[in-house]
Parts: sequence; structure tokens; C-alpha cells
Amino acid sequence: MDVSFKSHRAYISKGTPRLLELTMADCCSCSTLGLQKPFPMKHKCPVDGKKYGVVSPKTIKHHIKEPWLWNEIHQGYYFCSNPDCSVVYFGQDDSVIEKSSVRTEVGIKAKSDSALICYCYRVTKAQAKINAQPRQFVTEETKQKRCACETKNPSGKCCLSDFPK
Ligand SMILES: [Zn+2]
Repeated sequence: MDVSFKSHRAYISKGTPRLLELTMADCCSCSTLGLQKPFPMKHKCPVDGKKYGVVSPKTIKHHIKEPWLWNEIHQGYYFCSNPDCSVVYFGQDDSVIEKSSVRTEVGIKAKSDSALICYCYRVTKAQAKINAQPRQFVTEETKQKRCACETKNPSGKCCLSDFPK
């Protein structure tokens, strides 16, 4: 889990004095650091009682309304993917961020076929159902690491598993 953290430190220590001034907050390549804190990887959604995986606070900030008002605390945050649950994000302290506080429509929680499943390339559920091309395209882009799921997808994860099989 902490491979990129180590390589980041190595990069800093090998860098020039100017690079040493680079703080982690300035470096977008450290985007996964939020997931490397010692928080449980899963936690129960306080509303539907099922366990869901961890999500980075960075992801949350890209999708909530008025993120400047969000009181982020040092704890694990999780993404509830249940279409029937009103919660989108929740914390280890059982605080919740509901759909109404999220500005992005969460495709995997939406009933409509016009909802997005891929946020990087704006693929709707309807488009993905019609043919395999969008999935093939996204698979290739993901392989080439050209996607931006951590910030664009409200789940913070790769969308490929959300495509119809
Ligand atoms: Zn839930």
C-alpha cells in the first residue's frame, strides 16, 4: 500500500534543493496518500448497515456541494454504492453526506439510463448497453493511465466494474 509514499520520499531526497521545497499538498502525484492512512478499508454505512470501501477525502471534495464548508476530520471515509440508500459518503464516526449534498449525480445509484457510468469520458448507462465500444475504449484508456477516476468518479474508483457485463 505505501509504495508510492516511499517512492515520493525517495524522489524528494534525490531532488534539488528547489524540489525539496515541494510539499505533499503541492504535488498531485501523491493523490492516493489519502488512502494510505491507517484507517479500516471498510466500514458499515450507518443507514443501510452494509460494509463499503474507503474513499479519499480528495474525491469527496470534488463531488460535494460547497466543499469549503465541509468539516473534514482525520478519519476514514467510505462510499455507499447501494442504489436504494440515500447516503453517498460516510465517515468512521458515522457522519453521513447524503445525495442532496452531492452535486454530481451518482450513476450507480441512479435509476435513469441517462446517468453516467464513466465520468472521465462521459459514457451513460444507455450508451454502454447499446454496444461494447465505450467499454473497449475506456479499458484501453485505463491501461494507458489516461483516466481520472479518483477525482471525476464520485466513487473514486475505476468505472469499468460498473459497465454492464
Ligand atoms: Zn448506505
